[in-house]
Amino acid sequence: MSDVIVLGAGMVGVSAALHLAMKGRSVVLVDRREPGEETSYGNTGIVEREGYIPVTIPKDPRALLRYALNQAPEANYHLSHLPKVAGWLMQLWSRSNTAGVEAYAADNELLCRHAVPEHRALAAAAGAERYFRQTGWIRLYRSPASFAGAAKLFELCDRYGVAYRVMDADGLAEIEPHLARIMHKAAIWPETDSVSWPAGVTKAYAARFQALGGRFVHGDARSLTRTADGWSVVAGGETVTAREVVVALGPWTGDILAPLGLKFPLIAKRGYHMHFGATGNAVLNHPIVDVEHGFCLTPMEKGIRLTTAVEFADRDAPPTPRQLEQLKPIARALFPLAEERDETPWLGRRPALPDSLPVIGRAPGVPGMWLDFGHGHLGFTQGPISGRLIAEAMTGQTPLVDLRPFRAERFFGG
Ligand SMILES: Cc1cc2nc3c(=O)[nH]c(=O)nc-3n(C[C@H](O)[C@H](O)[C@H](O)COP(=O)(O)OP(=O)(O)OC[C@H]3O[C@@H](n4cnc5c(N)ncnc54)[C@H](O)[C@@H]3O)c2cc1C
Repeated sequence: MSDVIVLGAGMVGVSAALHLAMKGRSVVLVDRREPGEETSYGNTGIVEREGYIPVTIPKDPRALLRYALNQAPEANYHLSHLPKVAGWLMQLWSRSNTAGVEAYAADNELLCRHAVPEHRALAAAAGAERYFRQTGWIRLYRSPASFAGAAKLFELCDRYGVAYRVMDADGLAEIEPHLARIMHKAAIWPETDSVSWPAGVTKAYAARFQALGGRFVHGDARSLTRTADGWSVVAGGETVTAREVVVALGPWTGDILAPLGLKFPLIAKRGYHMHFGATGNAVLNHPIVDVEHGFCLTPMEKGIRLTTAVEFADRDAPPTPRQLEQLKPIARALFPLAEERDETPWLGRRPALPDSLPVIGRAPGVPGMWLDFGHGHLGFTQGPISGRLIAEAMTGQTPLVDLRPFRAERFFGG
C-alpha cells in the first residue's frame, strides 16, 4: 500500500505529487492521459505575480449589452448552457464589486506572492529552467477609458509592493517594435514569469516526481473506491491502494466528488488557442494582453500563441471557436501574424469556482481525502504553491500560508 494516490496529472496534481514525494511519501499519480495533456497543456503559460483582479461581470450597461448580445470576443456563451450556470453567475455577480475584488486580492495574494519562486524552485529541481523567461508581461490599453479601468489593479500592486511600469506608445515601441502603434498606454509587470511550453513544464515536473521514486500510472479516477484502511483505484492494470487520496482533477473534479455528496459550484470556463508564424523578421518579445478584447499573444516554441478569454458552454460540448475567428483580424492588426500552425484550435477548460479561489485542504466529511482544484484562470501559476501547501498540511507541517480562505467548507456554510 502506498501513502497517497493523487488523481489528475495536470499542473496542480503533478505539483502535489512532486511535493509529497519530496517529503518522502510514496505516491501514485493517476491520469487517463499523459501528464499535462489537458488544461495545463494549452494555456498562456503565464506565472503571474499580481493576479489581483478576478474576472467579474461588468457593471457598465454597454459592456453588459455586448455580452448579452453575444457580440463580445472576450465572452461567448451557448444559450442552452446559461440556465445551468445561472446560480454560479449570480454568485459571481454578488462579488463583482469593489469589496469583492478587495477580498479576492487579499486572499489570492497569499498564493500569488509565492507563485513565481515556487515555480522557479521546481523548475530548477526538474531541469526545466530552459522553458522559463523572466521578461514580465504587458497589458495593452487601447483607450483612456480602459487605462482608467486599470486603476484598481495599479492601486493593489502599490499596496502589495508589486512592481509595474506604465509606458506610452514610444515606450512600448522601444521594447515591442513590431506592435502596431495603436495603444493609448501599456504597462509591464516585470516580476511575472512566462514559459515557452506549459505542457513541457508539467511533464518535466512529472519526470522529476518519477525520478524521486513516484509512480505514474494510467487509470480512470472514477474507479476510486473506499477500502477498510484507505482508497483504491484501478490503474496500470492493477488495483492501486493508498491510505490517502488527493483529488486534483481540474474541471473533472466533480465527477469524483458529486457521488460522495460533495457538490461544489465548479464550472468549466472554456478557452481556445491557435499558433501563428510571424511575418518577415517580426518578433514578439513578451506575452501581451489586449485588455479591451480579452486575448493574449505569447511567444511559444510552436509559434505565437493566441489564447482567448471565456466561453460559457457545457464542459463536453463540441468546440465552437467563434471567439478565435472574431479575434484573428484584431490580433493581425496588432501584430503581423503569418500562417496558422494548428490544424484545429485547441480547447481547454478552466476549473472555476464563483469566488475565483481554489479549494486546497481536506474534503469535508470524507476521511483520508484531500482536495486541490478550482484554480480557474491561475492554475498554471498556482499549481506549485498549492502542491507545497497541501503536502505540508498532509504531513503535519504548518503550511507556509493560512489555508482558511481555501477551505472547502466555505461552500457548505462553514
Ligand atoms: C486559454 C487558457 C489560458 C490560460 N492561461 C493561463 C495562464 O497563462 N496562467 C495560468 O496560471 N493559468 C492559465 N490558465 C488556467 C490553467 O490552464 C488551469 O487553471 C490549469 O491548467 C488547471 O490545472 P489542473 O491540473 O487543475 O487541471 P488539468 O490540467 O485539466 O488536469 C486535470 C487532469 O485530470 C485528468 N482527468 C480528468 N478526468 C479523469 C479521470 N476520470 N481519470 C483520470 N484522469 C482524469 C485529465 O486527463 C487531466 O490531466 C489558462 C486556461 C485556458 C483555458
